[in-house]
Amino acid sequence: MSETTMEKIVSLCKRRGFIFPSSEIYGGLASTWDYGPLGVELKRNVKNAWWKAVVHGREDMEGLDAAILMHPETWKASGHVDGFSDALVDCKNCKKRFRVDHLPGEGNIRTCPGCKKEIDLTANPPRAFNLMLKTYLGPIEDDGAITYLRPETAQGIFVNFTNVLDARHRKLPFGIAQIGKSFRNEITPGNFTFRTREFEQMEIEYFVTPESAGEWYERWVAERFAWYVRLGIRADSLRQRQHAADELAHYAKGCTDIEYLFPFGWSELEGIANRGDFDLAQHAQRSGKDLTYFDQPANRRFLPYVIEPSGGVDRATLAFLVDAYREEEVKGATRVVLGLNKELAPFKIAVLPLLKNRPDIVELARKITGGLKKKFVVKYDDTAAIGKLYRRQDEIGTLYCVTVDVQSLEDHKVTVRDRDTMQQDRIDLEALEDYLTTKLT
Ligand code: ATP
Repeated sequence: MSETTMEKIVSLCKRRGFIFPSSEIYGGLASTWDYGPLGVELKRNVKNAWWKAVVHGREDMEGLDAAILMHPETWKASGHVDGFSDALVDCKNCKKRFRVDHLPGEGNIRTCPGCKKEIDLTANPPRAFNLMLKTYLGPIEDDGAITYLRPETAQGIFVNFTNVLDARHRKLPFGIAQIGKSFRNEITPGNFTFRTREFEQMEIEYFVTPESAGEWYERWVAERFAWYVRLGIRADSLRQRQHAADELAHYAKGCTDIEYLFPFGWSELEGIANRGDFDLAQHAQRSGKDLTYFDQPANRRFLPYVIEPSGGVDRATLAFLVDAYREEEVKGATRVVLGLNKELAPFKIAVLPLLKNRPDIVELARKITGGLKKKFVVKYDDTAAIGKLYRRQDEIGTLYCVTVDVQSLEDHKVTVRDRDTMQQDRIDLEALEDYLTTKLT
């Protein structure tokens, strides 16, 4: 099998309408991307699969959709105003700016990735660069009006901890899940949608007793890893990487990244951290509000510990795309297939008339489309000859193609073609919905 490169993925995404460069008619905006007709479906399916697994599929979870704009004190309490920064250094030779942790070399002597000249960090000390995007609320652009576009969704959950606890009469352990946009003024965005300045996160804060935090941390690492595998990522392209002690934030008791082997190397899809009671303690202190939990049976009051599985929607979507991409030799030609899992594929079924200039065939194909639409995401397509239509549907991952031909008018049967095996079955129209339901659910 030929190698999957990022060029091939980017090209397919543009060609088939998954992902376009943002503001393209103006030359684009660096590292900013728009999800097209296929991409919006795929990304929504990724989010739905997550929501189904972590909210609807469980008894111990609640959902939330907090505002992107939050009280500026939030970001002081969370540590983002003081600490959410990258150390940057400017190469004196080529004038380019780099993150110190991305510079090759050892200790204070590094190599500039741009011009390959030496950078001496003692003579050229790094400076902290805050990653939060600032904005002003209201008509006056002074310091009092500064607020931030949230750099993570997590804080919206922490500040709502007692609201959800009370409104839903919750007992520990329980969690709150949220999906939403976050913003970071990344210094070195890149690798397509892997690192961008505007992105979507899917985050869980799972509140537990301090004694059970270790066990819940292990359970969430296993649970989240299994989610990617269940949705089709090959297990040998996925790994867990436990953070070493010197990589951990000072309050964290443990952190494991789930990494995927992208064409540009192993990279983080999601981090699962045992954050102790750091976040609730910080917010309690800064807001002056009591964020403790009263454990009635044990008759004790304490700040819950938090396990945080924090993933990126765009990174997961990109991993699913890359992992699904295949090129196959079929009768001397190359067939590109997106072997997406049935839960994720943008369109489940395409209905194709074999002859688009035959009104009776078109009418039947449209009728079938309308019927199946009640249950599945179905597309009617007659914009090319059948061979080309199959190729296009393969490239966007459509699971089944239903073809209506002249014979269908007489025998009330259609051809159903399987994306992966390319096997074609002749199915009675009466039995079509049941046949597809069995395959797709
Ligand atoms: P990295 O080390 O790659 O910068 P991080 O450890 O800072 O990531 P977290 O703060 O743990 O990331 O954020 C949780 C998740 O949000 C990440 O695992 C990733 O999936 C997603 N994410 C973070 N930053 C970005 C970004 N700039 N673009 C796209 N997704 C992102």
